[in-house]
Amino acid sequence: MVTLFLSTAAGAQGPTQLKPGFNLFTKQQDIQLGQEAAAEIRKKVVIVKDPLLNAYVNMVGKRLAASREAKDSGFTFSFEVVADPTINAFALPGGPMFINTGLLKAVDNEAQLAGVMGHEMSHVILRHGTNQASKADLIQIPLALAGQLTDSDTLMGQLSQLGIGLGAESVLLKFSRADESQADIMGSHLMAEAGYDPDELARFFEKIKSQDTADAIAFLSDHPNPGDRSRAIKVEALRLPVQDYGYQTGEFRNMKKALAAVHQPPPKAHQE
Ligand SMILES: [Zn+2]
Repeated sequence: MVTLFLSTAAGAQGPTQLKPGFNLFTKQQDIQLGQEAAAEIRKKVVIVKDPLLNAYVNMVGKRLAASREAKDSGFTFSFEVVADPTINAFALPGGPMFINTGLLKAVDNEAQLAGVMGHEMSHVILRHGTNQASKADLIQIPLALAGQLTDSDTLMGQLSQLGIGLGAESVLLKFSRADESQADIMGSHLMAEAGYDPDELARFFEKIKSQDTADAIAFLSDHPNPGDRSRAIKVEALRLPVQDYGYQTGEFRNMKKALAAVHQPPPKAHQE
C-alpha cells in the first residue's frame, strides 16, 4: 500500500530538479582549480596505467557524461584509476575524477560502479566543492578569485594559503549531508539515463553500511549518510521515466581480472 502510494505520487511529480547553489567562483575557475588540484593529486597517489582498467572506467564515465544534466553543465569529465584499497572515488571541481581500485573491487556489478561515479559527477555538476568554499565565510576569497595570477602562483596555491587545500578535511572534497543527498539524487538520474538501474546504487550503499571495515567507514566519512539514503534513491527512481535498465559494457569480468593483477599499496592509515 505504501509502495503503491509512493509510486503514484512520485511518478506524477517527475524527477527532482537540482541546481548549483551560491558560488563566488566562475565555472572557468572551477575548471582551473580542478586541473591544478588534479596535478597535485597525481603527485601524491599511484595512478594505475593498466590500459584495460582505464578504458573501462572511461567507457562507463563517458556514458554518464553523455546524460542531459552532465552535458548541460558544460564540464568535461576525465577518469583515472588510483591504486588504493580504500573503497572510494572522488571528483574535483570542473571534472577530474579518481576511482580507487578498492571501489572497483567492492562493486558487485557495473551499475553499482556507475552509481558511485554518477554520484561523484553530480558533485561536480552541482559545483559542491566551490559552493562550500564560497560559503566558508572567508573575506579573502573574492580577492583571491579576482586577483591576477602570476605564473608561479596558482588558484590552488592562493586558496591553500586561506586554508582551503586538499587535505582530509578540505571543503573541496568533504561535502555536507545536503550535498550528499543531492549527489545521490542526481547520480540516480545520470546512471538511469545511461541505462543502469538506480536501485543498484541504493543496494551498494546498503552493502557498505552493513560492513564494519575500515574501508567502509572511510567511504561513509567522505560520503556522510544524509539519512535513509537508499530509500531516497529508490523513491527518486520511481520519479524517472520508465526505461529498460540492464545496459552493460560487457567488460565487467575482464575489469575484475585486470584488477586482480594490480599491485595495491597498503591503506594510507597503515603507512603512517
Ligand atoms: Zn558524495
